[in-house]
Parts: sequence; C-alpha cells; structure tokens
Amino acid sequence: MQKIEETLDKFFPSPSCELKFNSNFELLVAVVLSAQCTDKRVNEVTEKLFKKWNTPEDFANLSPQQLEKEIYSLGFYHNKAKNIINASRDIVERFDGNVPDNLEELCTLAGVGRKTASVIMSVAFGKPAFAVDTHVFRVANRLGIGGKDVLECETNLKKKFKEEEWAKRHLQMVLFGRHHCKARNPNCENCPLKNRCNSKN
Ligand code: SF4
Repeated sequence: MQKIEETLDKFFPSPSCELKFNSNFELLVAVVLSAQCTDKRVNEVTEKLFKKWNTPEDFANLSPQQLEKEIYSLGFYHNKAKNIINASRDIVERFDGNVPDNLEELCTLAGVGRKTASVIMSVAFGKPAFAVDTHVFRVANRLGIGGKDVLECETNLKKKFKEEEWAKRHLQMVLFGRHHCKARNPNCENCPLKNRCNSKN
C-alpha cells in the first residue's frame, strides 16, 4: 500500500472535487448531472443554471420541461430532470429544505445512489465515506485492492486506507483514473505502479 499511497500523493498532492458548487444542494445537483458526463461539461451548464435557480425550493417548483431545456446537452436529461425535481421536493417536504447529512437518508432521495451519497458525505460534509465510481473501481481492481462489485471494493478500500484519508484517496483515485490509468490506453510505460499491477500493458 505504501507505494500506492506515495504514487497518489506524488501525482495529485492536493486533490479537489472538479465540480463547481456554492452549497451542499448545488453539489447534489451537480453530482446527479455528472452521470455519464464530464465535470467540465457539467460546470459549463451549472454556471448558468445556478444563476437562474439554486435552492431546493426553486427546483421543487420547476416543471420537467423547464429543467430539461437547461440540461439537455448533458445526456440522460429526461431522467436527470425528473430525479432532481423529485429529490428537491423530498428535501423541502421531508428534510426542511436541508440536504441530509447521512448516507441512509441521502440514498432515499430520487437519483441518489450510494456513490452520489458518498461524494456528498465526504465533499460537502467532510464525513468519512469512500465513493466508488467507475474510475476508482477500475484503478482499484487493476492494483489488486478492489473487489468483485462496487460494495466489496468500497469495503476493501476502507480497510486499506486510513479513515481520515478516505476523501483524499477517493479524489486521487478518480484523478489517477481520468488522467493516467485510463480505461483505454493507460499510461503504463510511465507508471510507478506497473510492478504491482494486474493489467499493465
Ligand atoms: S501499470 Fe497501467 S494499468 Fe496498471 S496502474 Fe499503472 S497505468 Fe494503470
């Protein structure tokens, strides 16, 4: 593990979430919009979107068509609009207008699965959680520290890394997967981890 930690720290010494947001609720909307889409595209859309609407109350009162018009370029816009509006209504009606700060309640919101809830827990609330997205899952399995499914992978990563570093390690692994250990054509030639990797090219 020491070599993995050293490499992640060397490549990404101060990782941060690439999505832009000004509140926990904006982060939730941005993470839901980021499914199957790049953070850069999401940021371009949310920059305009959040100038128009930025509270759960605002979004709870939108029609799906109003929201779809703003987010259609991000893909899966029909489902994303429906989920964001329903989650906003839930936040207003069940949580007094506040994004809940625990995994169980977050997972009851429309469109919010364990990965999204874990991102919100660690990035918005600074609470220990380890979100496993497609990059984390791929990198972890290539390095032999993952699992057969995302839940097993999350459990293993939580055991391997110190709890106070989960948020940092999650962000580092996402960035490592996006920019170095890509799904196709990973940069194995220049990878300090190639000696312990299951799938170096
Ligand atoms: S050797 Fe290649 S596949 Fe393995 S971790 Fe490095 S970049 Fe990824």
